[in-house]
Amino acid sequence: MAVTVVGSMAFDAIETPFGRSNKIVGGAATYISWSASNFTRPVQVISVVGGDFPVEELDILNARGVLTEGVQIKKDRKSFFWSGKYHMDMNTRDTLETQLNVLGDFEPVVPSGYQGAEILMLGNLSPAVQLSVIEQLNVRPKLIVLDTMNFWMETALSDLEKVLQKVDVLLVNDSEARQLSGQYSLVRAAKEIMKMGPRYLVIKKGEHGALLFYEDHVFFAPALPIEEVFDPTGAGDTFAGGFVGYLDHTKDFSFEGMKSAIIIGSAIASFCVEKFGTSRLKELNRQMIDERVQQFVELVNFDISLV
Ligand code: AMP
Repeated sequence: MAVTVVGSMAFDAIETPFGRSNKIVGGAATYISWSASNFTRPVQVISVVGGDFPVEELDILNARGVLTEGVQIKKDRKSFFWSGKYHMDMNTRDTLETQLNVLGDFEPVVPSGYQGAEILMLGNLSPAVQLSVIEQLNVRPKLIVLDTMNFWMETALSDLEKVLQKVDVLLVNDSEARQLSGQYSLVRAAKEIMKMGPRYLVIKKGEHGALLFYEDHVFFAPALPIEEVFDPTGAGDTFAGGFVGYLDHTKDFSFEGMKSAIIIGSAIASFCVEKFGTSRLKELNRQMIDERVQQFVELVNFDISLV
């Protein structure tokens, strides 16, 4: 049982209408690892950081069963840096700055001990790196899940199209689904995107939940209405981590299994937004997650008699 994760490990600077953070540790692989390790271990990370990245962050992940042998440390260089500013609705944001730094010429190397993982989670980074990881695996994982963003659609579309042909599940948000497909209707967008490769498509709609598409089926998972949304950064990655961690635990990769997995992803993501960065994820335990999943069940559970 193992999930291999590739993604950024980074410094982020975040501005929301309610506050601002200095440089804090973030990155797609960081959030995915914190989240997935609630359900499965080991989580095997492939990434790159600079000499400025705090090694303690890797140590605490190691203590949770997250392996970081595949994280390259470039001592004389700087880690990836991203800064973003959220609008008043906290659902939309502008990227203020992206400094690729060590991510700019990253050549991932899959350690031999990582071979054989059943799930590969391609977190957000360059599609060329994602492709390289797929190509280095001796056996195709049973499930390949891809996350990406508008930045890569704008700068590396042809590589992204190649990756799309090789994956089973794509996770994107609603504006990215529209951008990738050229369709406004999310149902039409889903049809177009599934023609590009993935059999399953999850379209995330921030505080409005997520849609799961498969063939002609669609399933909706709500997002829990949260009183205190502090920082949505990493919510998408946390969702992805919960999704793959849970699937690796259950081994049920059917449509029904994925329905449960997106509820789990949504539940963990609802914690992530309550504090800046990964701080809330660091406090979580299984009981807290189980209680929140129960709140999800109650949120959408109703009896209706048709008259
Ligand atoms: P999310 O809020 O889940 O979409 O992801 C936020 C995380 O993505 C932040 O911690 C950033 O460090 C990371 N990120 C932002 N832009 C990029 C990019 N172009 N490549 C890789 N990671 C990125």
